[in-house]
Amino acid sequence: MLKVVSHEGYLARYPTGAVETPARIRAILGNLKGHYALVVPEPASTEDLLRAHTVDHLIQVQLEGKAVKDAAALAAGGALCAARRALTDGHPYFAAVRPPGHHAGRNRFGGFCFFNNMAIALLALFDHGTARRAAVIDFDMHRGDGTAEIFHGDPRVSFLDVSSAEKDGFVQRIESFLEGLPPVDIIGVSAGFDMHVKDWGGLLTNQDYHRIGRLIGNAARRLASGRVFAVLEGGYMPHDLGKAVLAFCKGLEGKDLIEPTHAARP
Ligand SMILES: [Zn+2]
Repeated sequence: MLKVVSHEGYLARYPTGAVETPARIRAILGNLKGHYALVVPEPASTEDLLRAHTVDHLIQVQLEGKAVKDAAALAAGGALCAARRALTDGHPYFAAVRPPGHHAGRNRFGGFCFFNNMAIALLALFDHGTARRAAVIDFDMHRGDGTAEIFHGDPRVSFLDVSSAEKDGFVQRIESFLEGLPPVDIIGVSAGFDMHVKDWGGLLTNQDYHRIGRLIGNAARRLASGRVFAVLEGGYMPHDLGKAVLAFCKGLEGKDLIEPTHAARP
């Protein structure tokens, strides 16, 4: 059984790029409604944020205004909540958060990202000793450069960053990474959907996202006692984003993708 972490604060308006809109979350929740139970997170604490970022970075984000700082801390809290719950329950969690996080480095932000949600979640688990090893799979169209920077040289994290540079064999790269992965305590997924056929990347169908979910879900049951959490990154066409997230979630929990049929029914 998969659960969804979300909060009405993810529907807030704050100064960011024109495409990073509340409609993204509204579309996701509209599609997931009736399929999954919702869990409401708390904002990340300053202590949580400082595991991944410098004090100066926190000040810089604060200077973007209270709306930005509050939204970003709440998104990080959503990732943290999903990671903690997945670790305890041994079930998948999907954190439908905004703003996204994978471009935020220790001391820099950009690309609609302010705090690195994934890094904040995993570093909290490491710090509390509840997890010692993790795998991170980033399948957003763009490089997870912030995540790569924060975990650079960190032996606790195996990081796979598939991005638009690898249009051929995109799904196969995830498959072979998972085949070679040793057991870990938890798998984190930076789930960006901007490689969708109807989004900027123009490559992956809902069936592809379902297959990616299934591959990761199977690996999590085999290698991580079912502990897997995904955190929303990109995906900018709300209508298609909502459907792609549902396809991914169905795959992650090992269920079939039921697409609406066009056949006439009596
Ligand atoms: Zn992206």
